[in-house]
Amino acid sequence: MVHSEEETQFDKFHEECGVFALYGHAEAANLVYLGLYALQHRGQESAGIASSDGRKIHNVRKMGHVAEIFTPEVLNELPGSLAIGHTRYSTAGDTIVRNAQPLSVACSKGQVAVAHNGNLTNAIELRRELEEDGSIFQSTSDTEVILHLVARSRERTLPGALRDALLQIEGAFSLVFLAQDRIIVARDPHGFRPLAMGRLEVEGQPAAIVFASETCAFDLIGATYTGDVEPGEMVIVGPDGIRRERYTLPEAPAHCVFEHVYFSRPDSVVFGKPVAESRERMGRLLAREHPVDADVVVPVPDSGVAAAIGYSSESEIPYRQALIRNHYVGRTFIEPSQAIRDFGVKLKLNPVRHLLEGKRVILVDDSIVRGTTSRKIVRMVRNAGASEVHLRISCPPTISPCYYGVDTPSLHELIAAKYDIKQIEEYVEADSLAYLSLESLRESVKDSDHRFCYACYTGKYPTLVQIDEIVMAKTGCC
Ligand code: AMP
Repeated sequence: MVHSEEETQFDKFHEECGVFALYGHAEAANLVYLGLYALQHRGQESAGIASSDGRKIHNVRKMGHVAEIFTPEVLNELPGSLAIGHTRYSTAGDTIVRNAQPLSVACSKGQVAVAHNGNLTNAIELRRELEEDGSIFQSTSDTEVILHLVARSRERTLPGALRDALLQIEGAFSLVFLAQDRIIVARDPHGFRPLAMGRLEVEGQPAAIVFASETCAFDLIGATYTGDVEPGEMVIVGPDGIRRERYTLPEAPAHCVFEHVYFSRPDSVVFGKPVAESRERMGRLLAREHPVDADVVVPVPDSGVAAAIGYSSESEIPYRQALIRNHYVGRTFIEPSQAIRDFGVKLKLNPVRHLLEGKRVILVDDSIVRGTTSRKIVRMVRNAGASEVHLRISCPPTISPCYYGVDTPSLHELIAAKYDIKQIEEYVEADSLAYLSLESLRESVKDSDHRFCYACYTGKYPTLVQIDEIVMAKTGCC
């Protein structure tokens, strides 16, 4: 089958997702639903749950938020004691339900469903090869490549076929698979994206085993975090218990530091480290590196809150919640068109005039991407009466796109890829602008043993990445 140019395009690096899996509980789908509810911040475009009743896999995936999709009636269509779930965001043009996950397939190894967090960096070549060999793709999601590789594998067992597929894919993947009688999960050899493991005690029965992108999903269902699926590891949970195995040798670790800067919830433990603690430390170090004489420290909610608390306690300048967020609006960043995005900032934030009037304000946010949000917020604070607005950012300038599963725009849209800090300061109309240094970011996440990926701040990618037909050389993680 011939695909049009557009159809064969992957949503190459605009993927933000959350995954959840559970084995061994009579209410598997309900618990996965709750887990996804806690992971909703990782993607608001579509969600899905696949469950197995031991014979058949049932799959519901739709556009929309978890709570809208999974009504009690829909959850009733998902019987069984094992299930996986997915929540996803991707950019416009790719907002179609056939890209929603879990994706499922019936092949010689039985029925299998998969949910994926991350992005494959060799999906284009693999898809081309598979299509030349006769595979027919239903979606534009890179995850479908994995199912085709599994279906075509000469290995006779499902774990064997999965191993086979995992050895062919490159890039970032935290994967959860559902088969008729087991859950199989795997993490890429660099460990780009998180994948936590836990236990949920069930009265009179063996504990249920759970996996999630973030531990906040365990908290909601009362599960205990027991550790992470290791980079290069595959874990099989089924009737014979839990089997952990290395499907490949781990590579130099490259955990995504942006999970700690922005993406994960502050109440999560990610890569074994509490996110709230990292963020507060970022704020403290930011205050030490870039002090300024001012009256109040104000966070951009919610992303700047923890860092602003750190900045305030280190600088001893009072913390004030002088921007109020309306929580019932989606994240402005992810609205599909520029027109809506422009309107979105006002929809989302409102200044508290009496806290800002006549004040010298230190505004703290986690990052500047395109610069458009920061510019509007600085203006908003000034219009509310602030005499000075000093912008402090709790990470270094974002100069390179992410190819491993964080939604960053293309290089030419990243303001820090084109302009220096002084020029960005002018653009956002701040009295001063300063970013946390790379060294301090590393200190904030306690990365003394070089386990994190900083590619969005350095342009040094830990793997080969294909950028619009230009193959970047492997530069090694900084
Ligand atoms: P911008 O207007 O592009 O500079 O947007 C910056 C804002 O977007 C900051 O407040 C960040 O918290 C937020 N942000 C940064 N990265 C992302 C992302 N990958 N997804 C959603 N929001 C983001």
